[in-house]
Amino acid sequence: MTAELLNGREIAKEYRAGLQSEVEKLKSQGIVPNLTVVIVGNDGASLSYVRSKNKAAEKIGMASSIVRLDEDTSEEEVLAAVEKLNNDDKVNGILVQVPLPSQVDENKVIEAIAPHKDVDGFSPVNIGRLYTGQRTFVPCTPLGIMELLKHTGSLEGKTVAVVGRSHIVGQPVAKLLTNENATVTLMHSRTKDMVASLKNFDIVVSAVGKPGLIKGSDLKEGAIVIDVGNTVVDEKLVGDVDFESAKEVASYITPVPGGVGPLTITMVLNNTLLAAKWHNEK
Ligand code: NAP
Repeated sequence: MTAELLNGREIAKEYRAGLQSEVEKLKSQGIVPNLTVVIVGNDGASLSYVRSKNKAAEKIGMASSIVRLDEDTSEEEVLAAVEKLNNDDKVNGILVQVPLPSQVDENKVIEAIAPHKDVDGFSPVNIGRLYTGQRTFVPCTPLGIMELLKHTGSLEGKTVAVVGRSHIVGQPVAKLLTNENATVTLMHSRTKDMVASLKNFDIVVSAVGKPGLIKGSDLKEGAIVIDVGNTVVDEKLVGDVDFESAKEVASYITPVPGGVGPLTITMVLNNTLLAAKWHNEK
């Protein structure tokens, strides 16, 4: 079997066109959705990621800005910058780019973002809402994974191995898959015979960050493979799955780059649009 490619760039483009027309509708009512990203320090990779979110927002007609703070900014000053954005009525979505410098407690900063502007969905309030089935901002990478999986058919009754249990990817995507009536096994570094067990699963979502962790011979024939992993090897971005061997066994597979990544940024825009809509609800 040669798998069908889940082309994240194309799927994201289509999805963003839908968002753009929603933005236009809001603008005709005088509402301009605004995404503001806070970055502390000068890390090149983080800066370029922040700029790409910024550009993506502007491309669909949203307002977007970057708040740049020096590497040696104190925790109090970062918290004050977040508070200022919380109180700014024009700002709908706030993102704080991580990692933060060591003098700043990441958890404190994320908790300081007003839940109704936390478009990453990382604040304890929004995570709690997700797990109790309330309206919330769903974290962007898991939401993007679900959008990709929509292109593969129904998830009902499917068995899924989610490899990686982080709060930003593995755990929330396991919850979203369960909501769709899939049966999920959440795996991690202490899972016994993890790779050998993958043959039992209809879908494999890998969010680890270890190139070559999963090969075609580890997969069930016809499995759906979502590779979230992003590792730079010899200046190239690679996933966790050996794409060449896996595509011969899988029915659908995401490439790296061009799979999950474009959907993650798209869902930041999606959540900013929701923030603007919810803020202006009567
Ligand atoms: P993380 O917080 O480092 O979590 C990695 C997870 O992988 C942990 O749960 C860890 O288990 C597990 N793990 C490590 N080695 C393993 C092994 N040999 N077998 C099974 N599980 C293993 O990472 P993350 O933030 O979730 O990100 C994961 C990957 O996705 C990274 O490469 C990251 O760059 C990428 N990513 C991509 C996007 C995107 O938009 N494409 C977005 C976010 C993240 P323990 O819990 O036991 O340590």
